[in-house]
Amino acid sequence: MAYIEPAPIKDKENPFESMMERFNIAAEKLGLDQETYEVLKSPAKQVAVSLPITMDDGTKKVFEGYRVIHSNTLGPSKGGIRFDPEVNIDEVKALAAWMTWKCAVVDIPYGGAKGGIKCEPWKMSQGELERLTRAYTVAMNEVFGEDRDIPAPDMGTNSQVMAWIMDEYSKAQGKTVNGVVTGKPLVLGGSLGRVEATGRGVMVSALAAMQRLGMNPTQSTCAIQGFGNVGSNAAVLLEERGLKILGISDHTGAYWNEKGLDIQAAIAYRADNGSLEGFSGGEPITNEELLVSNVDVLVPAAKEDVITYHNADKIKAKLIVEGANGPTGARADKIINDKGIVVVPDILANAGGVTVSYFEWIQNRLGYKWTAERVNRRSDRIMKDAFERVYDAAQEYDVSLRIASYIVAIRKVAETYKLRGGY
Ligand code: GLU
Repeated sequence: MAYIEPAPIKDKENPFESMMERFNIAAEKLGLDQETYEVLKSPAKQVAVSLPITMDDGTKKVFEGYRVIHSNTLGPSKGGIRFDPEVNIDEVKALAAWMTWKCAVVDIPYGGAKGGIKCEPWKMSQGELERLTRAYTVAMNEVFGEDRDIPAPDMGTNSQVMAWIMDEYSKAQGKTVNGVVTGKPLVLGGSLGRVEATGRGVMVSALAAMQRLGMNPTQSTCAIQGFGNVGSNAAVLLEERGLKILGISDHTGAYWNEKGLDIQAAIAYRADNGSLEGFSGGEPITNEELLVSNVDVLVPAAKEDVITYHNADKIKAKLIVEGANGPTGARADKIINDKGIVVVPDILANAGGVTVSYFEWIQNRLGYKWTAERVNRRSDRIMKDAFERVYDAAQEYDVSLRIASYIVAIRKVAETYKLRGGY
C-alpha cells in the first residue's frame, strides 16, 4: 500500500503528521484498502475566515478563524472551538481527525470537527471576545447546525462562548436552536456533569487501566500536567479514588509535594489568583521536571506535543493517561513502548467530554433534563466499555492501546463508509 512516508525528524512535531503516523500503522494492521484509506484520511471540509473586529480602543483588528470537518460518516460532525495564539490549520486538521476517531472509539453517532481562532483570549475584554465569537458564528452559519456540525468548548473557550454561539446562530434561524452547540450554561440547556465530564472520563480510564495492570489506586502516586478544566477535575476525582497527587502544573510552573497535594486548596487558590503562580501547598519545580517525576501515573492534560523524543526516555511513570489531545508526539511512541509504559491514548482517555456533549444534545432534542446521577452512570459505562473494547483489540492485534484505539475507530468508520457508499 502506498501510505505516506513518516515525516522527517524535526524539533516540534506537526500534529497532523503525528496523527497520520498512528493512522497509517493502524490502517496497515487492519489491511484497509487504498480507496477507503484515501477517503478516511482526507478532511471533508476546511473553512478559513478573516474576522475584522472592533477592539475596545476603537481600532480594527483582523483575526484568523478556522473550522475543519474531518468526517461526517457516522453522523453530524462534533468538536470544540479553540481560542489560542498557536492555532493554525494543521493543528485544527489534526484535532478534527482526532474527534472522528474519538467519537468512533466510544461509539457515539458523530463525525469529527474542530474549530479555532488565532487570538490571546486572556488579553481580550469580554466585549471583544463576544464580538469575535459572534462574527465567527455568522461566518460559520452555513457550516454549523444541530444536524450538521456541533461545536463545543476547547482550550480558551467556555460555556459563555457557547452561549454567544447559540444566541447568534439562533438569531439567524429565527428560533432558539440550543442543540447547535454543547457545553452551554445549565440554564440554556447545558447538561449536568458536562464540566467535569472529560476529567471524569480520565479517572474512569485510569482506573480501568490500573485494574488491568494490577495497580492499587490507594497505593499509587500521580502527577498531572495542566490544571485547566480537564486536569483539575481529573485531579479531584483521582484523589477521591485514593491516588496521591504529588505534582500539578499550569502555564506558570509546577508544584510538588511528596506527601500529596491538597487539590481542593489548589483549586481555591487558582480561583482567587487566576493561576497557580505562588501556590504554597507544594515546592515549585519546572514543568519539565514534573513530566519526568517519580510517580506511578502521569496525566498530561494541557496540549499537544509535551511528551517528545527528547524527554520520553526519562519518564518514570508506569501508566500515562492522556487528558489532552495529542500530548505525545508520534516519535515518542516507540521509546515509551520499549520502556513498557502503558499509555491510555487521548482518543480514548479524554472522550468523556464529547460523550456528555452527546448526552447534552440528546437532552436538548428531547426537551428534557437528566439527573447528574444518570449522566455520570451512563458516561462511566461508555468509557469503561470503550476501554475494554480497545484492550481486547490490543490483545488481538498485538499492538499498544494507542494503535488499538485507532484500529477500533477506523474499523467502525470504514465499515459505515462502505455501507453508506459514495459516488
Ligand atoms: N473539546 C473537547 C474534546 O476535544 C470536547 C468536544 C465536544 O464535546 O464536542 O474532546
